[in-house]
Amino acid sequence: MLTAKQIRKDFIDFFKSKDHEFVPSSPIVPIGDETLLFANAGMNQFKDIFIGLVPPQYSRVANTQKCLRVSGKHNDLEEVGKDTYHHTFFEMLGNWSFDDYFKAEAIQWAWELLTDVWGIEPDRLWATVFGGDQADGLPEDEEAANLWTKVTPIPAEKVLAYGRKDNFWEMGETGPCGPCSEIHIDLGPEMCDMKNVPGHKCRVNAGCARYIELWNLVFIQFNRLPEDKLVPLSARYVDTGAGLERIVAVLQNKKSNYDTDLFMPIINCTSDITGHKYTSKLGNKSDNAFRVIADHIRSLVFAITDGAIPSNEGRGYVIRRILRRASRFGRELGMHEPFIYKLVPVVVDCLGDAFGEIRERADYVSTVIESEEASFGRTLDRGIEIFNTAAKRAQKSINKIINGEDAFQLYDTYGFPLDLTELMAQERSLKVDTAKFDELMEAQRQRARAAQKTVPFSGSPRETSSVSGSLIVLPSTENKDKYHADSCEAKIVGYIDEAHFNDQGKIEAGAKVGLVLDRTCFYAEAGGQVGDSGTIETSEAQFLVEKTIEEKKCVFHWGKLVRGTFSVGQNVKAIVSKDRAATKKNHTATHLLQWALQEVLGKSVAQQGSYVGPDYLRFDFTYPKAPTTKELKKVEDLVREKMASDLPLTCVVMPRSEAEKLGAMALFGEKYGNEVRVVAIGAANERLLEEAFSREFCGGTHCDNTGQIGGFKIIKEESIAAGVRRITALTGTGLNAYLEKASDIVDELSAILKVPSEALVDRVGQLIKDNKKLSKELRSAAKASGSDVMAEAKQLLQKCEKIGETSIIIGRLDATHIEQAREAVDMLKKKAKSAAIVLGFEDDDKATLLAGMTNDLVKKGLKAGDIVKAIAPIIDGGGGGRPQMAQAGGKNPKKINDALKKATELIKEKLAE
Ligand code: ATP
Ligand code: MG
Repeated sequence: MLTAKQIRKDFIDFFKSKDHEFVPSSPIVPIGDETLLFANAGMNQFKDIFIGLVPPQYSRVANTQKCLRVSGKHNDLEEVGKDTYHHTFFEMLGNWSFDDYFKAEAIQWAWELLTDVWGIEPDRLWATVFGGDQADGLPEDEEAANLWTKVTPIPAEKVLAYGRKDNFWEMGETGPCGPCSEIHIDLGPEMCDMKNVPGHKCRVNAGCARYIELWNLVFIQFNRLPEDKLVPLSARYVDTGAGLERIVAVLQNKKSNYDTDLFMPIINCTSDITGHKYTSKLGNKSDNAFRVIADHIRSLVFAITDGAIPSNEGRGYVIRRILRRASRFGRELGMHEPFIYKLVPVVVDCLGDAFGEIRERADYVSTVIESEEASFGRTLDRGIEIFNTAAKRAQKSINKIINGEDAFQLYDTYGFPLDLTELMAQERSLKVDTAKFDELMEAQRQRARAAQKTVPFSGSPRETSSVSGSLIVLPSTENKDKYHADSCEAKIVGYIDEAHFNDQGKIEAGAKVGLVLDRTCFYAEAGGQVGDSGTIETSEAQFLVEKTIEEKKCVFHWGKLVRGTFSVGQNVKAIVSKDRAATKKNHTATHLLQWALQEVLGKSVAQQGSYVGPDYLRFDFTYPKAPTTKELKKVEDLVREKMASDLPLTCVVMPRSEAEKLGAMALFGEKYGNEVRVVAIGAANERLLEEAFSREFCGGTHCDNTGQIGGFKIIKEESIAAGVRRITALTGTGLNAYLEKASDIVDELSAILKVPSEALVDRVGQLIKDNKKLSKELRSAAKASGSDVMAEAKQLLQKCEKIGETSIIIGRLDATHIEQAREAVDMLKKKAKSAAIVLGFEDDDKATLLAGMTNDLVKKGLKAGDIVKAIAPIIDGGGGGRPQMAQAGGKNPKKINDALKKATELIKEKLAE
C-alpha cells in the first residue's frame, strides 16, 4: 500500500520531472494579508503574481499547501465528521504555470499522474469543463473540452460541461479569473448517501458522496474590470489544486479519508485514551466524534504552530471555536478532563516530516491546547446542563427555537461559541434565535465601548493613521542618518495639526503638532523599538519631540513648540536625546537575550513581540512552561559572557532570500519586503556574516559592540498567555538606577530591623515565622469564641427571602475561617428546617463560597455541589462537594457578590421547576 508520505512525494517528484520548482507551503496564518483569516488554497501565496504586483521567481512551481477552510468564502466546518471527505485542515497539492504552459499540459499531466503513475482505473474518472454563461458574456471553454479527448483517452461523453457556479474561478469582484476543469472520481454506487432523496440520480456535481472532486485545474486567462467587463489577460496562468487526503483515500482503497494513514493513527490514539471503539460508520454519534476530533486536532496543531492563539476575536476566535467544538465532542466519548492535547505527538508523527515546524513547536502547541481545554472544561458540563434545560423549553415551544437569551448566556457565562450551540441544537432538530443573540451581543459591545476611556490627544499613531486614510500624499522622509548620527541639518516640509496635513504656513509657540522634515536622524517607532525623543531647533525657536512615528515612509516628530515660531520651508537642526544611547544598549541586549534563550531552552523559543526603550527591555516568546531560576541564571550568564567578549555588530541590507539562506531569524507574522536589514553579532564585517552567532532581521539602532551594553539583569519573568512568556530586563543606566534603589532599600531595611545587611534574610525569615504563629493563635482564639460569625449568619436568616417554606439564605460573611462558616451553615439548616444556603467570604485575597441544602431540597434535585460548580468560575475558581454541603475557592474576591447573585437566580430557577 502506498503511504501518504509516498503519495505526497510522488506528486512533487512528478512535477519536478516536468521542470517545476518545489516551493514550501506558505504559513496557514497568512503573513501581512489582513483580507484572509487563513490560507484556504494553494494560490494564496501567488496572489500578487496573478494581479501583476510582483514578477514570478519561477515559471513552473509545485507545492503542498496547508489549507484551513473554516471561515469566509470557503467554510467546510459543518461538513466535518458528517461526510468522509471534507476537512477543516487539509493539504492542497498544486502545480502552477506562470505564463508558461497552459491547458494542454495541465490536463495531460494530471491524467498521466492519476492513471499512469498512480494507476487509478481511467473508467472511474470524469472530467468537467466550463460550459459558458451567456448572461455574463462568458464563452464556453471549447479549448479544454477538445483537449480532454485529444490529450487523454477519456471518451467525450465523460467530459461534462457546467456553469459559472461550478466551473468558473474568480479571485474577487474584479481581477484575474478564468474557466476551470475538474477531475471527479466515481467511488461506486454503494457510496451514494442520498438514496432516500426522492428523484436523486447519482452523477457528477449532484451532491452525493459517490462522485467526489479530486483535482481542480484553473486556467486564469481573463481579467474582470469594474462594470463586469471581461478582457483577455496578456499573461496566462495555470493554478491547480488536488486534495491530498482524498487522493490518499483512493490510492489506499479506503471508503473514507479517515480510514487512511493520515487519520487512523489519531483515531487509534483517541480510542486508546477514551476506551471507545471507532467503527467507521457515518451517522453514528461516537464515530462522528472520533472524526471531528481527528480533524480538529490537525487544524489546531497547524494554526497554533503558525502563530494563531486562542482568543476572543478574529483568527484567535476561530481557533477557540474549533477547540471548544472538539472538547464538546470529547464529552460524547466520555472525556471530562483535557485530552485533546495528548494527540499532538501523533499529528507530529504523521506530518512532522513534511512540515518540520510542527515538530519544532509541539511542546508549545500542547501547552496552549491543554490550557484552553482546561479552562473551557470548567464550564462545559454546567453549560451542557443549561443547554439541556433550554432545549427542553424549545422542544415544548411551537417554533422549536432556542431563545437568544439562553444562547447568549451560554456564550457569555459558559464560553459556548454560537456555532457550537447551533450545532447542538441541530442535533435535536432545533434552531437558535441568532437575531436576538446578535442583538444582545451588540448591546454588550456598546456597554464595553462606553466603559472604555477615551484617549486624550497625544499624537498617537492612531491620529496619524487618520491622515493616511485621507487622500493626501504624504512626503517621504530621508532617514538613513538614524543609524549613525545623533543630529542633522534639515528643512521643515510640513506638519500635522488635528489630523490635517499642512505643507505651508506657520507654527506658533505652544502648538502641539507632528513635524515633518525633508530628512531626519530620529528613529521612528518600529520593530518594538520606541521612537526617539529630542529637540528640533533654530537659534530663535525650540520644538520638543516626545516621540517619532512613521507612516508610509513619512516620519512625524510629535511634540510641542516651546519657544519661538516655525514656518514650513525653514532650515532647522534635529538633535536626538541622549536616551537613544540607552535604547541602543537595550536593543543589542534583546538580541543577545533571544540567542541565549534559544541556547538554554531550545528551538521552541520564538519571538512574539518586544519593547525596546531607554528605560528597559521586554521580550515575549513562546515556551510551554516557566523557565527555572537556574535556566534564567544560565541565560543571564550567557548574555554577560558575550558582553565581556566585546564582540562587534555588523548591520547589512541584503535581499531577503539571501538573509533567509543565512538563517537570519525573522519575527513571527511580520511581513518583510524583498530587501531586509540583518543585524549580526560576532562578525567583524559584511564578508564574515557566517561567523556571527546571532543574526536577526532588524531595522533598529544598536551598539557598535557588545561591550558597550554595560551590565544586564533579568528583573522579571512571567506568563502573559498560555505558552507565551515575558522577560523584562535592564541594562546600562536603567540597571544602575535599579541597583541604586535596591541598595537604598537594603540600607533602609537594615536600619529598621537593626541588623547588618548580611543578616537581613535570616531576620525577615524569622519575622515571617513569628507572624504565622501569631496568626494561628489568633484564629484559634477567634474560633473558640466564634460567636461573631454566628451572629452574622443569624442576621442573614432574619433578613432572608422565603419561597413557600424554604428560606433562601444568601449573603456575605466578614473574613472568617472555613470551619466557622461550616458551623454557621449547619446552624442555619437546623434553625430554618428547609433552607438553601450560599455564603461567601474573603480571606487573604482569596474568595470562598459555601453552599448547604437541607435534605428536602436535595430530594427535589437542588444540590449544593451543582450550585457551587456553576458559580465557582465567576470567582475564577473551582470546587464541588456533596449535595448537602459543598465549597469552592477562587482567586477573585471582587466577584463574590456576582457569584451570590447568580446562585440566587439558579436556586430560584430550580425551585420554580
Ligand atoms: P468540494 O466541491 O468537494 O467542496 P471545492 O470545489 O471546494 O471541493 P476547490 O476549492 O476546487 O474544491 O479545491 C481544490 C481541491 O481541494 C478539491 O478538488 C479537493 O480535492 C480539495 N478540497 C477542497 N475542499 C476540501 C476540504 N474541505 N477537505 C479536503 N479536501 C478538500
Ligand atoms: Mg468546497
